[in-house]
Amino acid sequence: MTIQHRSKLFGGRTTAEELHSQSMRAMCPCGAAPRVKARVFVPVLEVLAKCPEFVHAFFVEHPEMIEHGLPVVQFTDGAKWMKVDERVACAKCLPQMERDLAHGAGILCGQKLHAEVQFDRGPGTDPVSVQIPAGL
Ligand SMILES: [Zn+2]
Repeated sequence: MTIQHRSKLFGGRTTAEELHSQSMRAMCPCGAAPRVKARVFVPVLEVLAKCPEFVHAFFVEHPEMIEHGLPVVQFTDGAKWMKVDERVACAKCLPQMERDLAHGAGILCGQKLHAEVQFDRGPGTDPVSVQIPAGL
């Protein structure tokens, strides 16, 4: 019986999980390689109505976006949302990041807005597969 270890991509140089971690182009606040990325979206109309200070601060920070407008993402239901936060976490820090987002994901300008948090958890760990020879 032969034990087949995790399959690796690119001729055995990396696993799918490592490739996903590298694609985030960020490090966990603890310094480890990230495993999960969370993006926080809030409705654009709600931001304009309840938090015009945020819009003003955004255009002060990104003056090149004045001619393009706010970076709006249209979800499949047609609603328009704006990404206001993006975080990454390693497996160890993930529970704390989830708790932080559960309590304060949609808070802008001191007001609680409706928020949607999308988690990119990647492919996950590859299961170790065992190859059983024919005839058993
Ligand atoms: Zn961490």
